[in-house]
Amino acid sequence: MDVTNLLADLVKLPSINPMGRVLPEELIFENRVTDYMEKFFKNMGARTQRTKIMPGRENLVAFLDPPGNPSRTILFEAHQDTVPIDGMIIDPFGAKIESGKLYGRGACDVKGGMASMASAFSKIFKAKKSGMPQLVMACTIDEEHGFQGIQNIVNQSWIKSKDPKSVWAVVAEPTRLHIVNAHKGAVRWDLQCKGVSCHSSTPEKGKNAIYNMAKVMPFVEEYAKFLSALPGHPRLGAASLSCGTIRGGTSVNTVPDFCAVQVDRRLLPGETPDAAVRHFRDWLGAKCPGIPFEVTDPWLAAPALGDEFSPLLVDALGKCIKAKTGNLQVDAEPYGTDAASLCEALIPAVVFGPGSISQAHTKDEWIEIEQLKLAEEILYDFVVSQAA
Ligand SMILES: [Zn+2]
Repeated sequence: MDVTNLLADLVKLPSINPMGRVLPEELIFENRVTDYMEKFFKNMGARTQRTKIMPGRENLVAFLDPPGNPSRTILFEAHQDTVPIDGMIIDPFGAKIESGKLYGRGACDVKGGMASMASAFSKIFKAKKSGMPQLVMACTIDEEHGFQGIQNIVNQSWIKSKDPKSVWAVVAEPTRLHIVNAHKGAVRWDLQCKGVSCHSSTPEKGKNAIYNMAKVMPFVEEYAKFLSALPGHPRLGAASLSCGTIRGGTSVNTVPDFCAVQVDRRLLPGETPDAAVRHFRDWLGAKCPGIPFEVTDPWLAAPALGDEFSPLLVDALGKCIKAKTGNLQVDAEPYGTDAASLCEALIPAVVFGPGSISQAHTKDEWIEIEQLKLAEEILYDFVVSQAA
């Protein structure tokens, strides 16, 4: 099947990640895409494995096992979920083609990358012979919100039984056919202040949690400035911290006994989420003695992607990109991807795919068909170039 038709089919199957919201049942979760891709791989004769992570949400893995004992495994990974469709000005599931572009939610992020990978997989499957690397394609869930899909993949027995260095992972995201070999990570937690509630007509009888939070916040801002002034990563710059939401109290005539701020901390390669939280907690503890506050454990943690793990992979994939496009760019980006979880498991991983990140999550999301085809050819050449 042609890569454009494959992408059109995928765009027509809604797979919205509800991200904690209540959205129509017929639009959410990945199962329609999982069913479709399972058939796609089974029809060519590939071995597949489905793993249920949550109801309606399954990882799918397809295996291309060449004859003999391949010493290397190449993993293609693409997430099945998309962001919601609020405010879109095109038919999100229409897959309309016009002037060399295909339109729809997920066309760019990242069903386009998935189509290029799956199409390359199918061609390599037909050409498989001994001496080729094993090729595995993972279609994961929940990249846009909680990263639960990729966490399950790195813990699957087929991958755990391998020497991590013998696996090379290519993670699909729209990079305009550049290689991204470094990006920041993120960890999020709550800062909470407690108080004692009472009627607001006698505030002296209570302890106002919002006042407590107000005393702590200047030190949080000071901490954020301290972080951003530390020597950063040569390509990614400094770590950072930002407070995104604040909530507290139940009504205007009650002294609030609770106030919480959500904290977002961007991580550099080498930093662990737990250490980042601990450092913040210790800093505030030293700066605000006597003020009752709590720093929760993280409720979301995604590590950074470091560039020191993947030079050989960058060389090998880079040669194929340069041969096809005449140009190779290796970038460091601020956004996070599933590649970081692979890197955390010591598997060399890079991000690569068709389309531009500036078209991801937009109200008229699209991808250039030319990019899809080039990505497919580059991925094909890359796997074949690794044959002994
Ligand atoms: Zn994506």
